[in-house]
Amino acid sequence: MSSSALAASPVYEPELHDRSRPPATYWHRRGGPLPVGVDPLAGDAAADVAIVGGGFTGLSAALHLARDHGMSVRVLEAGAIGWGASGRNGGFCCLGGGGRGWREVWRRFGEQEARSWFAAQKAAIALVADLARRHRIDLQRTGEGELVVAHRPRRREALEREALEVAELFGENWEILEPGELAEQGVRLEENHGALVVPYGFGLHPLRYARGLARAAVEQGARVHERSPVVAWERDGRLHRLHTEGGTVRAARVLFATNGHTPEGLAPELAGRVLPVLSCILVTRPLTLSERAAQGWTTPALVSDTRRLLFYMRLLPDDRLLFGARGGITGRPEAFTRRVAWMRRRLAARFPAWRHVAVDHAWWGFACLARDRLPHLAEIPGRPGAWAALAYHGNGVAMASWFGAAAAARLAGRGFDGPLPAFVGRPPPRFLLPSLRPVMLATAYALYGLRDRWP
Ligand SMILES: Cc1cc2nc3c(=O)[nH]c(=O)nc-3n(C[C@H](O)[C@H](O)[C@H](O)COP(=O)(O)OP(=O)(O)OC[C@H]3O[C@@H](n4cnc5c(N)ncnc54)[C@H](O)[C@@H]3O)c2cc1C
Repeated sequence: MSSSALAASPVYEPELHDRSRPPATYWHRRGGPLPVGVDPLAGDAAADVAIVGGGFTGLSAALHLARDHGMSVRVLEAGAIGWGASGRNGGFCCLGGGGRGWREVWRRFGEQEARSWFAAQKAAIALVADLARRHRIDLQRTGEGELVVAHRPRRREALEREALEVAELFGENWEILEPGELAEQGVRLEENHGALVVPYGFGLHPLRYARGLARAAVEQGARVHERSPVVAWERDGRLHRLHTEGGTVRAARVLFATNGHTPEGLAPELAGRVLPVLSCILVTRPLTLSERAAQGWTTPALVSDTRRLLFYMRLLPDDRLLFGARGGITGRPEAFTRRVAWMRRRLAARFPAWRHVAVDHAWWGFACLARDRLPHLAEIPGRPGAWAALAYHGNGVAMASWFGAAAAARLAGRGFDGPLPAFVGRPPPRFLLPSLRPVMLATAYALYGLRDRWP
């Protein structure tokens, strides 16, 4: 047996991986119907594919494996469906998935790869909309497109460059709006020097999406098990055997869909290859019509700013503001309290008219980075038949769904019929000194923070 414990990433406090309680999010208060038929694994089972992780990646993979490839599949999720980032993110279904700019990808990997990466990001958004339509998932969709607001005059130049880049490289026509034009569209906030209009993306309710994916996967014949942490993983001839407290699953193929919760003790071959990072969200009480008018903020659009350590915000269907930012470098409870207080100050600075508006919900969770700032969908080195799909760099609502679909095709031994650059097919490279990941993160945050304050 390769490991006997459910060991999460050693980078943070273990209580951040405690599944005994649901995360205290706004989404969980209004999460819609619970999926049925997702009981813990009981007894010994066999499947073509076993999936570790019941978030967007694992559930999308399960749905596609069962629906499109006719394969038997078991999903093992340690907590409840969507317990990880998938049930607690900002619901920005938008472009993204890596940490590199368009031109950088083009220069490093060539024209075809850059085009394929751009096409994959657009297709990922379309996939989420298509899954919702085909499987009757109530996404509580809001807004169309995304606005990236320049928080400093010089960042406005960077946005102009990006608009030129996407025009030149991909033939796209992305507009820049002046602060006055933004105000007319119900986007008035401090630190606003114009915005890039990205004509893709929409807002959604992430937990409803995750639960809807689980329901759809079960309807298509996949078996999904909540509260079934995989505590050991061993080879059984040419097969893999995954152990939970309640039973085992034997499968020829395994997919690790564990992203920022990747259990390094369970899968030592993945250890040190990803860096979980905390992201934190506040949700205010509902804002009245006159409060929204007083601030001049009525847009349903997804909005973020140009900081490396960015702020992101959107109005929810019940007129609350969701406001998100990085979550710091330690997961201690007192750090969370400090982070929430810091974010309340940042919220008040951007939205002065809402300075006194109460915050009803605050929580955090793990996104996931890789050393090469790229997402990965690859066979795990030294574990034939076992794959990992992860590292969406804080943009996994659409991309994790897409990687799930692509992983399903790979696990079924078929070609994927959508765009996917070849560079994602390498395993994530190990961090040079994995135990120093927290120090590296602290240093990067300090440098990015300085740069973000630069005029
Ligand atoms: C606060 C926050 C805000 C974010 N906002 C956005 C956003 O607005 N837009 C966007 O695109 N992205 C956003 N992201 C990122 C996005 O949520 C993730 O990229 C995406 O949800 C990843 O999905 P996943 O299925 O790969 O991983 P997860 O949803 O994290 O799921 C991994 C699962 O693996 C399970 N697991 C781990 N080990 C085991 C084991 N041994 N046995 C069984 N199960 C196990 C975990 O319990 C977990 O549920 C945000 C993330 C956070 C934390």
